[in-house]
Amino acid sequence: LGEWTSRLGARLGIRKREFPEKMDKTLRWLKYGVLILIIAATWRAGTLVWRSYDPWVAWMHLSAGWEEFLESPWSYFSLFVLVIGMSLFIERFWCRYLCPLGALLAPLQKIGLVKVRRSEDDCINCHRCGTVCPVRLDPEKKDVENSAECIACGRCVEACPKEKALFFGTSKKKLAVLTVGIATLAIFLGGYGIARGTGYWQTYSGSTRSSEESFSEAHLYGWMTLENVSETLGVSVEVLLSAGSLPDDFPRDVPLKDIDGVDDEELLRRLTSVLEAETKEYPENIPSNPDEIKARLTISQIAEAFGLESGDILREAGWPIDSGLNTSIKTLSEELGKSPDDIREAVKKLSE
Ligand code: SF4
Ligand code: SF4
Repeated sequence: LGEWTSRLGARLGIRKREFPEKMDKTLRWLKYGVLILIIAATWRAGTLVWRSYDPWVAWMHLSAGWEEFLESPWSYFSLFVLVIGMSLFIERFWCRYLCPLGALLAPLQKIGLVKVRRSEDDCINCHRCGTVCPVRLDPEKKDVENSAECIACGRCVEACPKEKALFFGTSKKKLAVLTVGIATLAIFLGGYGIARGTGYWQTYSGSTRSSEESFSEAHLYGWMTLENVSETLGVSVEVLLSAGSLPDDFPRDVPLKDIDGVDDEELLRRLTSVLEAETKEYPENIPSNPDEIKARLTISQIAEAFGLESGDILREAGWPIDSGLNTSIKTLSEELGKSPDDIREAVKKLSE
């Protein structure tokens, strides 16, 4: 994106500017600050706070139209516009000064085996490499080999007129740019393929609503599948199907926004409001007699109503201790091949 913006700036005839060298060096440290801030905020909040400001997410959200921009101009898009705007005037503004991913990868660039290297003996000091670098390094003067700032784009290597003066390679072997590109792609796709093939590929954080949070406070998005929503809300898919009056064959592993005829936002609103209403209504319906416990109540609700520990009820009933506490005992019993009577009996025993 920075590259395109930069080219657009050139087409529009905007002259690129540079900060003075000292200031440029100092500003490059900003991205490490951004990274530390993100890690600290994520640690504290237990969720990726940065997501609401990430220019890349903003870029992805452009497809949602300008309404979203107008709804939250100070969120995603303010930074996005800043990044795009600044890149028109300063090459790779984001990458050089603010990108937290760049800050994270910088140490790897330093210890990497394959990197841009210069041979002092072969260099004819023509200065070409320094004029093409998008992050304003000068391989002729600067020790690029040990620079954390080099993004290994290969532009300087392409521009160098002397075959052996500037090259990609290890300390012992020179590698063709194409070889490095293909190897990088192969490693990336290989890793991705293995992760997918072995079931370890996960793009969903799997955070679950805490017992203090209401259903509507949980982080739900249209890209989630019904299974993701179930995990996030801490209720079973069956409960969601019933709360949303959805058919049994409703797709469980397809993003809600991709299901034909489904308005994902409306569906998520409906699910959370129905679940919230049911939760609010339960205290009045809790019987004092364990024999009358309704099968639609959850273990947490029963535990709270009878002043017991959820774990004790599950243990006494002989149900797995990791059973979903916010799932109705009807659904749980069906999943486990047990009977809701186990819970009624357990509560009766524990209440004696
Ligand atoms: S590889 Fe790219 S970023 Fe690194 S020094 Fe060369 S031109 Fe600059
Ligand atoms: S482009 Fe090649 S030959 Fe020219 S200064 Fe850079 S490394 Fe040396």
